[in-house]
Amino acid sequence: MPGAMSEFERGLDTVISALEEIRLGNEQPPRAALAAMEKLRLVPLPDKATRLASLQNRVAVCVKCPHLASSRTQTVFGVGNPNAQVMFIGEAPGVDEDSRGEPFVGRAGQLLTKIIETMGFTRGEVYIANILKCRPDMPPSVSGNRPPTAREMETCLPYLIEQIEIIEPQILVALGVTAVEGLLKVREPMGKMRSRWHSYNDIPLMITYHPSYLLRNQSPSEKRKVWEDMLQVLERLDRPISQKQRNYFL
Ligand code: URA
Repeated sequence: MPGAMSEFERGLDTVISALEEIRLGNEQPPRAALAAMEKLRLVPLPDKATRLASLQNRVAVCVKCPHLASSRTQTVFGVGNPNAQVMFIGEAPGVDEDSRGEPFVGRAGQLLTKIIETMGFTRGEVYIANILKCRPDMPPSVSGNRPPTAREMETCLPYLIEQIEIIEPQILVALGVTAVEGLLKVREPMGKMRSRWHSYNDIPLMITYHPSYLLRNQSPSEKRKVWEDMLQVLERLDRPISQKQRNYFL
């Protein structure tokens, strides 16, 4: 029915022009538009690296939390492989990350890098990001870092969700109770959450201690717990695990 077809096409034209107008007139384009168009096979999605770069540009100028936008040196977006199998999620940048613009580069970051490498990956093969993209502000002349508030995490979470949607990792690893609270909106003792599989938007999620907890609690048994959680991650990915890795204590 050619008549009905052209009516359909006119309708489609109207929808597409309306979407384009929204996109042009709005600082934040509707998030679903590209994915929805891809489903309609109208526009192929750009590759993951391009989509991450464009999201990173939006994050870099974000002022949704004015107090953080004015105190940060720069936003800390995330780092790693856009096609990563595993994505590690921390809470927020600290002072080192704020100055370098990269997550997990301070002392806790060095321990995370050691964990990643002991798993048999390089830092560049996985993806590392935080719930919050800005360092939580501190009063002038007070050193150290503070945890993000629930409100700050809720405001920033959509960016992490977009990162997850782009990367489509096979496994998520949440580091520490604050990251879990930001992601799942539940706050439970780590002992109740770790060592078993959870799920976030149908992606298997392993919860484990934050590396800074291990820096404060140097006991081998706590380090072994994190390592056992990581062994579960390797098993789920079907990665070969050597005897040395099985017996490892971080
Ligand atoms: N702690 C975090 O949770 N994230 C970082 O990037 C650094 C320390």
